[in-house]
Amino acid sequence: MKENERICSLKGIGEKTEGLFHKLGVYTVGDLVRYFPQGYNVYEQPVLISELEEDHVMTVGGAIYGKVQVGGNPKLQVTTLYVKDLTGTLKVIWFRMPFLKNMLAGGGQIILRGKVVRKGDGLLMEHPEIFYPSTKYQEKLDSLQPVYSLTKGLTNNGIQKAVKQALLAVEFSGDTLPENIRRAYGLMGYQEAMRGVHFPQEKEEFYEARARLVFEEFFSFILSLRLSAEQKERMLNAYCMRAQPMMDQFLQKLPFDLTAAQKNAWCDIKNDMDGIHVMSRLVQGDVGSGKTIVALLAMMYAGLNGCQAVMMAPTEVLARQHYQTFETMFRQYDVPLEVELLTGSMTAAQKRAAYRRIESGEAQIIVGTHALIQKGVTYCRLALVVTDEQHRFGVRQRETLAKKGDTPHVLVMSATPIPRTLAIILYGDLDVSVINELPKNRLPIKNCVVDTGYRATAYAFMKKQITKGRQCYVICPMVEESDALEAENVTDYARNLQDILGESVKVGCLHGKMKQDKKDEVMLAFSQNEIQVLVSTTVIEVGIDVPNATVMLIENSERFGLAQLHQLRGRVGRGKHQSYCIFMTASKSKETKERLDILNHSNDGFHIASEDLRLRGPGDVFGIRQSGVMNFKLGDVYQDAAILQKANEAATEILQKDPYLKEKENILLHGVIETMQNKMNLETTL
Ligand code: ADP
Ligand code: MG
Repeated sequence: MKENERICSLKGIGEKTEGLFHKLGVYTVGDLVRYFPQGYNVYEQPVLISELEEDHVMTVGGAIYGKVQVGGNPKLQVTTLYVKDLTGTLKVIWFRMPFLKNMLAGGGQIILRGKVVRKGDGLLMEHPEIFYPSTKYQEKLDSLQPVYSLTKGLTNNGIQKAVKQALLAVEFSGDTLPENIRRAYGLMGYQEAMRGVHFPQEKEEFYEARARLVFEEFFSFILSLRLSAEQKERMLNAYCMRAQPMMDQFLQKLPFDLTAAQKNAWCDIKNDMDGIHVMSRLVQGDVGSGKTIVALLAMMYAGLNGCQAVMMAPTEVLARQHYQTFETMFRQYDVPLEVELLTGSMTAAQKRAAYRRIESGEAQIIVGTHALIQKGVTYCRLALVVTDEQHRFGVRQRETLAKKGDTPHVLVMSATPIPRTLAIILYGDLDVSVINELPKNRLPIKNCVVDTGYRATAYAFMKKQITKGRQCYVICPMVEESDALEAENVTDYARNLQDILGESVKVGCLHGKMKQDKKDEVMLAFSQNEIQVLVSTTVIEVGIDVPNATVMLIENSERFGLAQLHQLRGRVGRGKHQSYCIFMTASKSKETKERLDILNHSNDGFHIASEDLRLRGPGDVFGIRQSGVMNFKLGDVYQDAAILQKANEAATEILQKDPYLKEKENILLHGVIETMQNKMNLETTL
């Protein structure tokens, strides 16, 4: 069977099932084998009852003790069983499975694998998988069973079966990685890796299979980057800029001094813009380090020199906020430049008007979203393009924006803390400036990790802060099932909180399902303190700046990656007031506490992410996305930093020998690179 054959050519997949697979983006058998598991069920040696830990999925063995009981109500029948071993007795329950009463009536040894939860004083196992008689567990012992992301109507078992079949039937056209590279870096073959990533016999095999696929992903990414970067050598700077006294006057009028790191970054940028070659620079700085003002200076410099400068932000809310900041500053400090906003949610008439002012050069400073790279927009002497929160965009989008001008300067801002060495690989063609200090007026954020019993106290604390004139964020528990449920959840939470805090406080809410103009309305109201408490999903994460907000309360914080929590926390502590971050968690597990505690002691994003990895077990490898950098399908820039380095070495080597990948053994790479380039084009998370 060829890779591009439709999946209905597999046994047992009819038209209806095929439709369900389409929902998962699986059309061909090739797609199916590349539909990787989200994680694995690990079938470990059973433990003793006394060794059970809450919040873990564990396997336990024992003897059935007493009679199986069926209780609850007709709608939700609960089957209860007690299991005993030398160390204790464990209560086990199942929902809607009354037939177990007969099935387990024979007594004897049983093995159960399920989630251990705390109920009152004791531990309880909920809805476990049953191995009865216990000898049945032998077949599964030590195996890893893939868990796939599902859609309604498809079961995990169904996907497993289909994948198994496809893996046997597909003839792969060959190995995408040249053999000499595979050998040099000790990587498994493609086919072997495919099997190993779906049905590993043991953990080691999974790690190796995954490493091979991650390597390939990074390798083709780096190659496509290099191959497109190779083509355009550093172009000459066509925009001769002259020193502008107004720049210094502006800096003097600012209510704060730039930090030394901000000054250095601005100095790098100015040197580039005055230099012989066009600028290609990444400014990297942790949340709140003050990147916006640096971008503004660069844009202003271009504007005062009679050119245009444009800044693209990943979200509408952020674009509007930048627009407002720029507009206010220019008016306040007498900078004679016009700012224009261009976003997707503007009406056709508004857009036309904006296009006109942009094309005529009436507007010099332009801020917006993806709308900036649409066909209709023509710029006038565009000398500088800035992308904010670059990690949210693909390389192609940055290039598309740059192509709107005649080789303009390129400035890229990113808050994702990646070490310089990695940044250089990932942003191959860019020079890097790092803003590694926070403005002086900042007080360190006070953190605490608390359980849900503290909720009332937290609300009271928020109210006190609000009375002092401050504002608060609440990040709602995540709902994984659907966006609609998540929206409902946020709305309910906000309503409930409104009741608790009373009428003197206005609670607003924000979630991904809201229409853009509604989101903007809420954000604007929050930034003007018309709303004091903003209940939100993680949509708030990117770049929002409301310095008056001093409390961040994060519900269910155990469910987030630490790097993401760090980003969320960065929404407070942005002004002169003392700020607080409350990590709330219902989990009593020691690991959770230990993980969250890292945030208490560190403010260094990269350190936080790497500690997180150290503490999470191998069962969790797919669990939480750390970096959010560029959304690789498998690889994660933090987790797989070592592989990234190796892939970079290999890419350098191969291009030295065969700059256009024309050699026979490298031909198969063309396909992967093409796929990668297309992917980068589409790649945004929002
Ligand atoms: P980020 O780097 O996360 O994009 P911002 O540029 O949004 O951070 O800056 C955060 C806040 O810090 C803004 O309110 C900004 O006005 C303020 N700020 C920036 N630079 C300084 C500074 N040198 N001193 C004091 N406040 C500053
Ligand atoms: Mg920012």
